[in-house]
Amino acid sequence: MSRVYNFSAGPAVLPEEVLKEAADEMLDYKGSGMSVMEMSHRSKVYDNIIKEAEQDLRDLMNIPDNYKVLFLQGGASQQFAMIPMNLMKNKKAGYIVTGQWAKKAYQEASIYGEAVKLASSEDKTFSYIPDCSDLDIPDDLDYVYICENNTIYGTKYKKLPNTKGHTLVADVSSCFLSEPVDVTKYGVIYGGVQKNVGPAGVVIVIIREDLITEDTLPGTPTMLKYKTHADADSLYNTPPCYGIYICGKVFKWLKKMGGLSVMKERNEEKAKILYDFLDQSKLFKGTVVPEDRSLMNVPFVTGDADLDAKFVKEATEAGFVNLKGHRTVGGMRASIYNAMPKEGVEKLVEFMKKFEEENA
Ligand code: PLP
Repeated sequence: MSRVYNFSAGPAVLPEEVLKEAADEMLDYKGSGMSVMEMSHRSKVYDNIIKEAEQDLRDLMNIPDNYKVLFLQGGASQQFAMIPMNLMKNKKAGYIVTGQWAKKAYQEASIYGEAVKLASSEDKTFSYIPDCSDLDIPDDLDYVYICENNTIYGTKYKKLPNTKGHTLVADVSSCFLSEPVDVTKYGVIYGGVQKNVGPAGVVIVIIREDLITEDTLPGTPTMLKYKTHADADSLYNTPPCYGIYICGKVFKWLKKMGGLSVMKERNEEKAKILYDFLDQSKLFKGTVVPEDRSLMNVPFVTGDADLDAKFVKEATEAGFVNLKGHRTVGGMRASIYNAMPKEGVEKLVEFMKKFEEENA
């Protein structure tokens, strides 16, 4: 067996321990005589899997009792619509546009009501997070929306915006469980799990109970109401059973590793190795202002598209895969999620040094 170092932005690397355990349980999950893939979502054995996953997530994130945890489908993109459909009571919400995913959410919201662009960093290709300490926020907004870690551009809010009392809604797809968060600061935290938590197909929504109401926009489908899923403990219809089972295993792995404070330290240590190298390199350059750098997604360029392509090709041949930057940015991007070992980042930097010597 030979595993590569996978720097994909998502779906992305998962802990080997989790994959091996799932492989061991593939044909016979704990004496049930079947795979979790083959199991009824109404069975007792599956009920234990989903309940345990929820409890482990609650423990890891310290989620208060007045928040519901929902395991849904439709990806993070479906939340771009579900959020306004469920929360836009005044038909007006504020969006801080810090990248393509925030922009898509903003555009989707404007189908359902007035989406107000409170700030944007599009002027400099989303390479920074705008100052959000004193935004001009209309009083009648239903919520303020952010994308907390911008997967494509590699920026992250180091401080949450001052929403002036409005409900904060955050897409945390690419920083989910990478560090501790204070859940009480948010009305809704959600993310697709395919970056830091599990296989594609599951989106986790953590939502304060008072935001879950029957009072949704007219025409909201049953399946797109948070209340439908909250009332049924995520079992209104068949959930993405196998994906939730793997997420549950990742939660247990995170607990075993020491929880989110330990993950934060590990992630800071890993990111520093790469950023320190970029900061002194004569060939490679990070594209984000240092104060807003993400711990999870690290974009960099040489400034020469042909040399970038050569680097990506040679890196792939050496076992460092999925380093090509997003098509809208070019260059390279190394996504170094929780499951990327420190050794993977160290070896990548060694490879970059060698490439620099040969090509500078
Ligand atoms: N939000 C962020 C921050 C993302 O990185 C992505 C995908 O990469 C999405 C939303 C869209 O996720 P999905 O493909 O699950 O709809």
